[in-house]
Amino acid sequence: MLVKEVIDIIEDFAPTTYAEDFDNVGLLVGDKNADVTGALITLDTLETVVDEAIEKKCNLIISFHPIIFSGLKKLTGKDYVEKTVIKAIKNDIAIYAIHTALDNQYKGVNDMICEKVGLKNRKILIPRKDSIKKLTTFVPNKQASAVRKALFEAGGGNIGNYDNCSFNLKGEGSFKPNEEANPVIGKRGEVHLEEETQISLIYPSIIEKKLLQALFSAHPYEEVAYEVSALDNENQHLGMGMFGELASPEDEKSFLERIKNEFNCGCIKHSQLRGKPIKKVAVLGGSGSFAISKAKAAGADIYLTADLKYHDFYKGDKDFILADIGHYESEQYTKDLLHSYLTKKISNFALILGETNTNPIKYI
Ligand SMILES: [Zn+2]
Repeated sequence: MLVKEVIDIIEDFAPTTYAEDFDNVGLLVGDKNADVTGALITLDTLETVVDEAIEKKCNLIISFHPIIFSGLKKLTGKDYVEKTVIKAIKNDIAIYAIHTALDNQYKGVNDMICEKVGLKNRKILIPRKDSIKKLTTFVPNKQASAVRKALFEAGGGNIGNYDNCSFNLKGEGSFKPNEEANPVIGKRGEVHLEEETQISLIYPSIIEKKLLQALFSAHPYEEVAYEVSALDNENQHLGMGMFGELASPEDEKSFLERIKNEFNCGCIKHSQLRGKPIKKVAVLGGSGSFAISKAKAAGADIYLTADLKYHDFYKGDKDFILADIGHYESEQYTKDLLHSYLTKKISNFALILGETNTNPIKYI
């Protein structure tokens, strides 16, 4: 199996278009046409991780965080980033980074955190906009259900927990085929009126090519009339952070103790406790100070995230607790998530969970 084939499988799950603009995801180092001997899955790529890959005969590192983030102008080994990249190149090891493409994926980083916390009724905290479109097409009544079926099968018409969603309006279409046309219905040079159904449905913009292919192959006409429009709606299945509810309310202190054990945290920094049980929890793996107001607006009793600064903790109040559980700690299960997804899809070579602890922060 080639590196690019593995990448296709990863990107079926977390396409690079899901990543944030500031990010640097995808194949960062290496030859996409190389044969994969083994893949090492890690949260960070460091020199020690490249050593582990060499030892375990893996020539592909699948990393959550990108080792190259803000660009490289020189490659002289002056810092840990350059040293890591040089070592990977010298040893023919490719590095792929997934980062915010997986953060934004509904079944990604934050869903995994929700799972560990035990949250139900999960929703995206900051749903992405500009990722949903609408397709409208016009089909002879008799073929309407076949065309609808093909569009649903291609991934159109999903809204939250509902699929097969469409709106259908009956009307009359008109057309006049010219002398070059090969009309399925009607005659060349004659205006034809046909009873048609107008089908409208929404779809994630990422599947547009597949959806239009499905439309063109299922639609009976030589020329298919259709409209595509961009929507400003929020995408309930794509975005940063998540919130959900505990099965039953928990005492604040015992909840934080449980989280500390579950995520093996050296310590948890939190704002003032309120003396009230916790029911609704918002989570965002990694640096999450940018989403504090969103977590509060979602009605969360507590927001579990990382990299909070001194002044951030003042944003807690009698209804809302902020808790910093550690960057590495919050994202550590991402490796398991990637490993379990890839092992279901790949059996040609070893997929190894990296054992190197890449957390740069230690506690005494
Ligand atoms: Zn991170």
